[in-house]
Amino acid sequence: MNRLTDISTIRDIMSRHGFSFSKGLGQNFLINPSVCPKIAELGNAAPGFGIIEIGTGIGVLTRELALRADKVTAVEIDTRLMPVLDETLAGFDNIHIINADVMKTDLKKVIEEDFAGLECAVCANLPYYITSPVIMYLLEERLPIKTITVMVQKEAAVRLCAPPGTRECGAVSYAVKYYAEPEILFDVSRGSFMPSPNVDSCVIRLNIRSAPPVKVKDEKRLFGIIRGAFSQRRKTLANSLTSIGISKQETYRALEQAGLPGSIRPEQMTFDDFGRITDYLTEVNDA
Ligand code: SAM
Repeated sequence: MNRLTDISTIRDIMSRHGFSFSKGLGQNFLINPSVCPKIAELGNAAPGFGIIEIGTGIGVLTRELALRADKVTAVEIDTRLMPVLDETLAGFDNIHIINADVMKTDLKKVIEEDFAGLECAVCANLPYYITSPVIMYLLEERLPIKTITVMVQKEAAVRLCAPPGTRECGAVSYAVKYYAEPEILFDVSRGSFMPSPNVDSCVIRLNIRSAPPVKVKDEKRLFGIIRGAFSQRRKTLANSLTSIGISKQETYRALEQAGLPGSIRPEQMTFDDFGRITDYLTEVNDA
């Protein structure tokens, strides 16, 4: 079935299957026909690739991915959509649907089992309520993937892709930048969805790095410090880090060692700066 962006087709499918949208599951389905082919093409859906999709809805993006990639494995939490997908994706022999919560799915195992011999990428129109947790899960698992191409709310896109040292950046921007090179690909208006959300969206692509931009002795401590630093972003770094049990004196000493002013604010710190502070605190605390 190839008219899955057509409103009357969607209404017909919904009424025949007794399906209604769940706001709680972030169900805003794409009805703009130009968006899914673009996500698929920019998201590496191509021969030689296996694609993981998160959240199929009625299968509008799944279909475009399966037309281009060797294999698509899609994780969808809503059991009510399973009979719908049986109908809308009938005829494809390269789609595997997993009815589960993506946050509880072992994607490493899925990749091993489904994508042997293939390169791998993730594509999705993400449910807005778990955008950052899903992205962090995909990154922190260090999956063998090339890119993550996802639709997210516009403000989330700006935050996720903000370069360190800018006003928009927060702990999540540093985390993304640690694992990937992020880029904003294109905007998608709220009218492209059914039902239409209150905000516009953006498609972003995270190009996974082969090595992190900064090498530290204790990666966990680096992220703890970054999260602590941005927990109170209007304060100086020395003040913010007291929230994670690092005294102001300790931070001043670390800053001095790194040649940075004691009055520095978190958003003025580069990745290297956080790296040097982290290594100093690791050495002092583990000595
Ligand atoms: N891909 C479809 C489209 O573009 O029209 C649907 C996108 S809709 C924004 C998000 C989809 O993610 C919904 O189908 C929803 O049921 C599903 N979803 C929500 N939470 C999920 C979770 N934790 N794990 C897997 N799928 C989830």
